[in-house]
Amino acid sequence: MSTYDYAKLGLKCGIEIHQQLATKTKLFCGCENKLRGQDPSDYTLERTFRPVLGEEGKFDPAMLVEFEKKNTVIYEGFTDCTCTYEIDETPPFFCDPNAIDIALEIGLLLNLKLVDEFHVCRKNYVDGSVPAGYQRTGIIGINGSIPISPQKDIGINLLCLEEDSCRKSSEGKNTITFKLDRLGIPLVEVTTAPDINDPEEARLAALRIGMLLRNTGKVKKVLGAIRQDLNVSIQGGERIEIKGVQKLDWIPILLKNEVTRQLSLLKIRDNMVERGLKSKDFQEKVFDLSEIFQKTQCKFIQKGIKNGLLVWGMRVPYMQGLWGREIQEGRRFGTEVANKMGAITGLKGLIHSDEKLEKYQFSEVEISKIRKQLKCGEEDLFVLVLGKKSRLEQAFEIIKDRLVKASVGVPEETRKALEDGNTEFLRELHGAKRLYPDTDSREIPISRERIETIRAKLPRYPWEAMEEFASKYKIPKESLNQLTLDGNLKLLEDILNVYSGKPTVVVSTLLETIKTLRRDDKPVENLTDSHFIQVFTLLEKKKIAKEAIEDILSNISENPSVKIEDIVENMNITTMDTNELQNIVQRIIPQFSSMIKERQMGAMGPIMGAVMTEVRGMIDGKLVSQTVKSEIMKEIKKGGKQDGI
Ligand SMILES: [Zn+2]
Repeated sequence: MSTYDYAKLGLKCGIEIHQQLATKTKLFCGCENKLRGQDPSDYTLERTFRPVLGEEGKFDPAMLVEFEKKNTVIYEGFTDCTCTYEIDETPPFFCDPNAIDIALEIGLLLNLKLVDEFHVCRKNYVDGSVPAGYQRTGIIGINGSIPISPQKDIGINLLCLEEDSCRKSSEGKNTITFKLDRLGIPLVEVTTAPDINDPEEARLAALRIGMLLRNTGKVKKVLGAIRQDLNVSIQGGERIEIKGVQKLDWIPILLKNEVTRQLSLLKIRDNMVERGLKSKDFQEKVFDLSEIFQKTQCKFIQKGIKNGLLVWGMRVPYMQGLWGREIQEGRRFGTEVANKMGAITGLKGLIHSDEKLEKYQFSEVEISKIRKQLKCGEEDLFVLVLGKKSRLEQAFEIIKDRLVKASVGVPEETRKALEDGNTEFLRELHGAKRLYPDTDSREIPISRERIETIRAKLPRYPWEAMEEFASKYKIPKESLNQLTLDGNLKLLEDILNVYSGKPTVVVSTLLETIKTLRRDDKPVENLTDSHFIQVFTLLEKKKIAKEAIEDILSNISENPSVKIEDIVENMNITTMDTNELQNIVQRIIPQFSSMIKERQMGAMGPIMGAVMTEVRGMIDGKLVSQTVKSEIMKEIKKGGKQDGI
């Protein structure tokens, strides 16, 4: 793929970052702030959604589209972390002041103009992910900024404190199931201005905001606790929202692919204009073509017709060649139309005449009958869909609408990030006016004094700390980035305050050892900052050797409430001085004397192995290898042989 001149294309991108806060309770009720993973639920309840008129007496078009799926929603609840609040049976019990404090701290770090009063508002959620039909949210501050490089600041438009929605657990044909545990967990939503003009800059901005949030030490560190959405447009294109960006490294790829998609759609628009096509040209009549397929060889149509489904078809004038046009790697315009139709109607797909129709085993007769009945001319294309009557009516409305939009350019929509770096239609873009007052909540005054108290204890920017650590301790930048994103930069500093040994030992413990333990299914989430500090204090006092760190942490993670001294004692970890080590090596060497004669220094490996089984975890491995080496040399000298040393 080519690289673009993004400045010339007028790329504009903004990011929305959602980060859960590490409070004890949820935002509006006393339930514990925790997720229950894949645990079975304690109860379920079922709801059916009906559209309700918005404040202005109009249906939000996005809401109607959601409603047309006619989903029955099932909620799975837990007795310890969901209550009557989550299922909309009681209004908020309070608004957690600790969450507000954390949000204010983040607001100050983002240089925002903070509100004098926090107003809880409602934001409509129509996908069933909030039983009340709206999420409670409020504005903490506006108009801030964050430096992403010495040359550039990115504007921050808005910081909101809000409750998280439910998490989806499964989806059926007409039902959708949500787990209630995530609903009500406090999170901040950071919205940047569309100041980002380059995909790499977008990654950097998300990285910086993520690091700033993690470095407060007051946000959740677990996977899924931070989520990113992108807003992107180019000159002549439209605003597209890309949801569900899970990894920072996806951002530049997604943006580049979205630029490709928008450019391709604009080109198709230009081709349509050249062919004289106007939006009114797509009000074609839709025909029931089921009769043509009564004896078809096409298996899925055969089966569908047997089950009472119909095949409808429509002529698409002067569009031949355009549906088969690739708009993104591996995705054609036809894919784009099919995705949107499928996402809204639940229908599996469509067939169009820009495809190789042989793969459907259509006969020449069938194809010519279709073209005849639809009155297709040479340059016309046809499109077929198999389904129930009610779905087909909706499907063709969506197809016509998508064609009208294609004749104008890029339609505004919300798309879902896919792991391959592409995106697909998720839903129509929600209207902007979605906040309205929550009549169940009182305004919460934010005093100047409260803000000044928080300001006095603000942490410094993580990138300032990182710069200092990089030069003072010679820690690589990539490691520091990762430590900061893990929320462990402060911990690194705290450990280096008690431990005077090599910083690389601390870095590899925090990055590699934790990873190894997690891979071995150890409950690393039980390890607290204080555990790490205590372990390194023991190391500093030479009560343990660094080789024992992994075993000790593994043990602590499984027994988090046991005192570390007791764990170490039970593990029988003691340290050894160099004299003791030398005694052991000198005791072992004679067992290998014939091997030393034969292989000289080549005997080093087997001897190290024998020594390590006795001293592992008690003394630095490097010291062991030095001692073994010098003892072997002595032995070789004794034997009078010097070759090969
Ligand atoms: Zn609750």
